[in-house]
Amino acid sequence: MKHMFISDAHAHVEKEITVKGWLSNKRSSGKIAFLELRDGSGFIQAVVVKSAVSEETWGAVDALTQESSLAITGTVSAHPKKEDVFELQVVSIDIIHIAEEYPISNKEHGPDFLMNNRHLWLRSKKQWAILRIRDVVETAINEYLHIEHFIRTDSPIFTPNSCENTTDLFAVPYFDLGEAFLSQSGQLYIEAAISSVGRCYDFGPVFRAEKSVTKRHLTEFWMMDAEAAFVEHDENIGLQEGLVKHIVKSCLEKCTKEFEILERDTTPLKAVVEKSFTRYTYKEAIVKLQELGSDIKDGEDLGNDDEGMLTKDSDVPVFIEKWPSAIKPFYMKIDPDDSAIALCDDLIGIEGAGEIIGGSQREDDFDALLERIKEDGLDEKEYEWYTDLRKYGAVPHSGFGIGVERMVRWMSGVAHIRECIPFPRTVNRIKP
Ligand code: ATP
Repeated sequence: MKHMFISDAHAHVEKEITVKGWLSNKRSSGKIAFLELRDGSGFIQAVVVKSAVSEETWGAVDALTQESSLAITGTVSAHPKKEDVFELQVVSIDIIHIAEEYPISNKEHGPDFLMNNRHLWLRSKKQWAILRIRDVVETAINEYLHIEHFIRTDSPIFTPNSCENTTDLFAVPYFDLGEAFLSQSGQLYIEAAISSVGRCYDFGPVFRAEKSVTKRHLTEFWMMDAEAAFVEHDENIGLQEGLVKHIVKSCLEKCTKEFEILERDTTPLKAVVEKSFTRYTYKEAIVKLQELGSDIKDGEDLGNDDEGMLTKDSDVPVFIEKWPSAIKPFYMKIDPDDSAIALCDDLIGIEGAGEIIGGSQREDDFDALLERIKEDGLDEKEYEWYTDLRKYGAVPHSGFGIGVERMVRWMSGVAHIRECIPFPRTVNRIKP
């Protein structure tokens, strides 16, 4: 019998096909049974009429438990009242495996219980929807960058030094070479690759050893770092805005079912696609925050509450650009018009999304870069290969990093980032 993915049901109406999947729910009146079946691509209700099937098939209905795996053969029918909803009129059932009593039921479970059972929790409808939104976000990132002439190059995960400082790094023993550190960003490496391919990006897990216990921090998360030759600060911001718009647009186009499952009102996302993002300089942001009642002082980093305050009444994400160089890393280019300013930006999402992107133009002058490395007390020998890049055809260049889970959290509207990656790693969790 021809196999069908549930998501393709519309193309198989009135045809007899087989669906392979798992039972997520069952109701039976004794004469007719309704099986809720999922196959990964979607959900479908299978209707079994006792008088229309063999004794063996009706016996299978009785035997099936939640999460049992099975193959159902039947005819696809369009739902009489609901558009784009299909059912399966069952002809026969083959049981593949009868599941033991499943620990996750429809009743409320605490977050700890669900996290301990993450390997099973992933199957629930909401988690399924979030996994699919994650896939759309990742695909959209890849798409947009290729449209903009970037190619994927990827960076190492074992690194000998850090982008910023070693306190936020996980150290691992590395044979006879001492300690290696798990990468917290591949940026420095893709800066090298742009002189080969012009525009490139890496996409992979990065690691932060900071003890941030918040709804927005993981210790292992997926980041896409993009880097482009001949791109300066303003154009860099334009690329970031274009990327975020492309991601949001893709989610709106491709995730209707997922948003429905998550009961996510997508009205705010529509404005994001249509309107220009707001741009504040750091100085403007500080003045605005102080007016709004924040006790932040000039020269300080913005806290979570500040980010929330700045975006609370905004229907588009907000860029905060041109930060004091004193609180930013050595590789950011100093503003030629103001030596106290770094040409950089953070992008804050709306709806409590927090910081989504961090970006900057990079210092391309050998002497200026070396001076910043020394000022920051970093070992210039460790960065020799990086400063080398400024010796052979240095060009103005810029880049940025976007956190995938932050974006998924915003798109799906879930409260906690731990649901936005299949197996989250946080300060307090490394299992399963
Ligand atoms: P934050 O101030 O929110 O801790 P950051 O300034 O350390 O973030 P960057 O170093 O600029 O962030 O990293 C680039 C992007 O990676 C961020 O804009 C965010 O989307 C994401 N990100 C950073 N840290 C984390 C984390 N611990 N967990 C998940 N995503 C993160």
